Amino acid sequence: MIEKYRTHYSKDIGEKEYNNMVSVAGWVEDIRNLGSIAFVILRDRMGTLQVTCLKKDKKELFEKLVSLPRESVISVRGVCKRNKKVRNGYEILPEKVEVLSVSDKPLPMGVVDKTGIEFETRFDNRFIDLRRKEVQAVFKIRDKVIDAARNFLRKNGFIEVHTPKIIASASEGGTDLFKVEYFERIAFLAQSPQLYKQMLMATGLDRVFEIAWYFRAEKHNTTRHLNESTAVDIEMAFIKDEKDVMRVLENMVFEIWNAARTCEEELNVLDIELEKIRVPFRRITYDDAIEMLNEQGHRIKWGEDFGSKEEGTLGRIMEEEKKVFYFVTNYPLETKPFYTMPQEDMRYSRSFDLGCKGLEIASGSQRIHDKKLLIERVEKCGLNPRDFESYLKAFRYGMPPHGGFGFGIERFLMQLLRLNNIRECILFPRDRNRLTP
Ligand code: ATP
Ligand code: MG
Repeated sequence: MIEKYRTHYSKDIGEKEYNNMVSVAGWVEDIRNLGSIAFVILRDRMGTLQVTCLKKDKKELFEKLVSLPRESVISVRGVCKRNKKVRNGYEILPEKVEVLSVSDKPLPMGVVDKTGIEFETRFDNRFIDLRRKEVQAVFKIRDKVIDAARNFLRKNGFIEVHTPKIIASASEGGTDLFKVEYFERIAFLAQSPQLYKQMLMATGLDRVFEIAWYFRAEKHNTTRHLNESTAVDIEMAFIKDEKDVMRVLENMVFEIWNAARTCEEELNVLDIELEKIRVPFRRITYDDAIEMLNEQGHRIKWGEDFGSKEEGTLGRIMEEEKKVFYFVTNYPLETKPFYTMPQEDMRYSRSFDLGCKGLEIASGSQRIHDKKLLIERVEKCGLNPRDFESYLKAFRYGMPPHGGFGFGIERFLMQLLRLNNIRECILFPRDRNRLTP
């Protein structure tokens, strides 16, 4: 028995380990059996290392190692020797090998093979796909990004909350909700924390954020929509207007972008160099955006929302200006949900979308805090105020001016890491066709 399966990760081994005993553990990535000597490449979460076994010294160990199927899990205890010819500058000469799990053969997909593996095969075998370092890199950066967002918001007086994900009615009156059986009733899975984070503004908590899952029963299968996705949502009270919210959003994005830039190793693996960005971000009004788009040959009429083609063109125009991020502001009221604060003229709204290289990654606005206006807007949007009673009640006993945004984590990562499918940014994607694994 090996006393401790692992004393060192591959990357932690250096000069001071040379000629000492170490224990390493991981997956057998490759075995080269040259007859009298065998090289085993062992992979752990930090990288790989080489175990070198001479048949004449360790016959039994040699046989054990060379008979192992690839991707089996082992722990090796042995002496670490300097060897300039090996990639990490050392190799492990094994004294003991413990086989912790034997892999089946053949593998459903390779871990190191560079040849294109089909998308479906990868996602059917996501646990193996996630062994690949370029796939792991995405999730290491994701962790960094979420941590940076959380830190930024806490530093700015926001507290983290968690609102219900099983809800009685649609947040935005949309049809894109999943139904769930809730005892004798029908309930829905939350498409956003919208109504709850607004209700929290009536409590005096003033600044809240939530990092959580949302569910959208959108039937279309695109490369930028998931049916289950994660978001950073904030809501803040006592704002003057939506510009206060935009400042929080751009500063948060600035911080998380810079946090991602510190992930040098992962960016290297992905072969990405992240440019420097600056705040404040460029602001374009909806009307100006229409003009810019129509100059490029689009035919958008006032009052229409932008589709992916228009978003793409806008992104290209911004790229020419060297702008990675840009806000589109002052959308027509009718393009935005009922809770969005109108401008004085009731034609435009106090709303904004944040674009990044041609893709919407966040939406936000000042919200209506006046209950009369809110009920009016609910009705105007063809909804029944009675379905929103418990929400509307929160506006009757003291509700400060407030606003917030929803920021899609996978959308951001996709643009940050130049991945062309949003599914790459979530561990186990849910889409129209995929419910497992
Ligand atoms: P789109 O028009 O691009 O479908 P949306 O305007 O419906 O998005 P919002 O309701 O504004 O989306 O949601 C806030 C943010 O959540 C979006 O800006 C986006 O980053 C993210 N998001 C929305 N829907 C999805 C989805 N189906 N999959 C992944 N992320 C999403
Ligand atoms: Mg939106």
